[in-house]
Amino acid sequence: MLVLEYKIKAKPQQYKAIDEAIRTVQFIRNKAIRSWMDAPTDAKINRFALNKYSTELRNEFPFVKALNSMAVQAAAERGWLAISRFYDNCKSKKSGKKGFPRFQKDNRSVEYKTSGWSLRPLEAWSLHKTKRRIAITDKKGIGELKLLGKWDIHKYPVKSIKRVRLVRRADGYYCQFAVDVECIDIQPKTGQEIGLDVGLESFYTDSNGHQEPNPKFLRKAESDIKHAQRRIYKKVKGSSGRRKARARYSRKHLRVNRQRIEHAKRLARHVCKSNDLVAYEDLKVANLLKNHCLAKSIADASWYQFRQWIEHFATKFGRLAVAVPPQYTSQECSQCKAIVKKSLSTRTHVCSCGLILQRDWNAAINILLKAKSRDGQSRSNANGVGTSTLLGASLVEQVLTMKLESNVLSSVGLSTLPISSDLLANLL
Ligand SMILES: [Zn+2]
Repeated sequence: MLVLEYKIKAKPQQYKAIDEAIRTVQFIRNKAIRSWMDAPTDAKINRFALNKYSTELRNEFPFVKALNSMAVQAAAERGWLAISRFYDNCKSKKSGKKGFPRFQKDNRSVEYKTSGWSLRPLEAWSLHKTKRRIAITDKKGIGELKLLGKWDIHKYPVKSIKRVRLVRRADGYYCQFAVDVECIDIQPKTGQEIGLDVGLESFYTDSNGHQEPNPKFLRKAESDIKHAQRRIYKKVKGSSGRRKARARYSRKHLRVNRQRIEHAKRLARHVCKSNDLVAYEDLKVANLLKNHCLAKSIADASWYQFRQWIEHFATKFGRLAVAVPPQYTSQECSQCKAIVKKSLSTRTHVCSCGLILQRDWNAAINILLKAKSRDGQSRSNANGVGTSTLLGASLVEQVLTMKLESNVLSSVGLSTLPISSDLLANLL
């Protein structure tokens, strides 16, 4: 599946109509969840039942009927997705919160499948083929939208377009096409293999000793973002000035987010292109994000996106991407396998066998060795199947040690000093 995205250019009332369609999707999704909650315990609520229910909604509410029928189904499926995720978590006995389905308040997209839109003329589009347009043909009144972007959607047969999604973002509206083409681009073997140890100090350290610096996009933009945030509170609640200030604030966040994605993508592409095997730790970033003091740095490091892109490019280039369980990767000696205990402030691995190596470099070698010895817990590819349930043990360990260290700081009378994450990162 290939996703092409265009920015939309349209008239204000068309944007309003898109908003209305997005609201309808949220209504259907929430109604589906409500009906599941209210159903008697012996009722079998599944995807089909909710699909059927969405048809009832169509008959009951004219504004639901106005939305394309497949888009209505897709909206009900979103409800089902939330419910089935909850079921799965319960079944797998996942610790902690199971994610009981909640009502959504901030939906931002509407998804059409293979009907309800047209790339071919409402009027005589054939006259200007170079101008890219889409018409949303259901009764929501969205109409013909101009598409801004360098892609050429006409290159693909209309049949291969499986989904069209209209998305609202802080800086406008976007149209995404999910095109069913295999974007495989098998690369010649390079004979190279690499292990990656992600961290806070550098974005990653690889098994060849290369340290990729951390870009820290959020930190760089932080004062700017904070400034925009303060300006929201200065404005009167409910005023248009406040709304504008809020929009400015979200746009700044959006920008940081895009920078992160681009950065992760570029690095992942490069790593996959130049190696036959890419090994990395199977970290569960979601769990780590719960720790507040580290959350910002971790989110900023955007490992999650990095991993997703590695898996994507590995499949695309015909490479092997291996996620290994993270236990002991930093403690073990990569030469003699002895466990060399070290705290986080110990930046160098020194072993009695004579190996002296930078700590993360040693870890990266261990990660590669684990992957090669087929210790790999999961071998994943672009669709991300088979990720293991292991916690990012080494990072949990890092977090714990760091807590200890910050306690030490407070015990020597530094407790009033606000400890910035940068400082913490330096402690690592
Ligand atoms: Zn050793």
